[in-house]
Amino acid sequence: MMSNYNPFSLEGKTILVTGASSGIGKATAIECSKLGAKVIAMARNKERLEETMSELSGEGHKMFLCDLTDSKAMAEMVSQLPVIHGLVNNAGIVESRPVNFIKEERLKSILQINTIAPIMLLKNLLKEKKILNRSSIVFTSSIAGIGYVSLGNSMYATSKGAISTFIAGAAKELGNKNIRVNAVCPGMVETELINTGALTTEQLDKDKAMYPLKRYGQPNEIAWAVIYLLSNASNWVTGINLVIDGGITLI
Ligand code: NDP
Repeated sequence: MMSNYNPFSLEGKTILVTGASSGIGKATAIECSKLGAKVIAMARNKERLEETMSELSGEGHKMFLCDLTDSKAMAEMVSQLPVIHGLVNNAGIVESRPVNFIKEERLKSILQINTIAPIMLLKNLLKEKKILNRSSIVFTSSIAGIGYVSLGNSMYATSKGAISTFIAGAAKELGNKNIRVNAVCPGMVETELINTGALTTEQLDKDKAMYPLKRYGQPNEIAWAVIYLLSNASNWVTGINLVIDGGITLI
């Protein structure tokens, strides 16, 4: 067997990762670079994005600062991008509120970044012919997006549920170009996103104990699933929601 045999290699691929300044996006950018990809890292915070850049392996990576809720800024960024072989539509936020306390403006704001921005980014990239045939698109949804919703999380679940169904339509439409569209659905992952102060350490520990694997996930563990979907190892996989959750959704 050849020693360099690796169907998960990203050698020769350029991958755009949104939300690359933190958490899952940062881990994905770093792991993609270790597997040979040229990474285009995107987020708003310059300092933290530069930190990600300094941790990438290999050469030829680029960074773009962009607020994805600003459609003009997004269009401008897209026009400056090289063609890509992969898109990791990952930037997102969480906001918990009981249904009684939902405000239209807060609902619009979470939908804007979690739902509208990733869909419009894909649309703009396609329109500008920046996505090569045979590319792979990966959205970061959530187990909330496939119906596993914790108390107070209905707005977030709505924003991710839309993504988890959008991918089915997009996968069908783009299949004739051999462009694959999938989502990963993580359970709780140890990133800044879950440190909102909404839950005490004791509550978090109790929650972790509910997981069959007795812990939350690490950003790398989601990155590796994203890499499977980006790589040729998943060439016949499209339109799926890949659950990575330490078993919490098992009934
Ligand atoms: P982090 O808060 O660690 O990272 C979020 C990233 O999104 C940051 O890089 C941030 O960059 C970027 N971002 C947020 N708003 C914008 C914006 N308006 N424009 C551009 N970039 C933006 O969170 P995670 O890594 O945990 O989350 C990543 C994805 O994973 C999200 O979609 C989240 O919903 C999903 N997810 C997370 C889970 C978890 O338990 N952590 C579980 C399931 C899904 P900057 O601030 O620099 O702009």
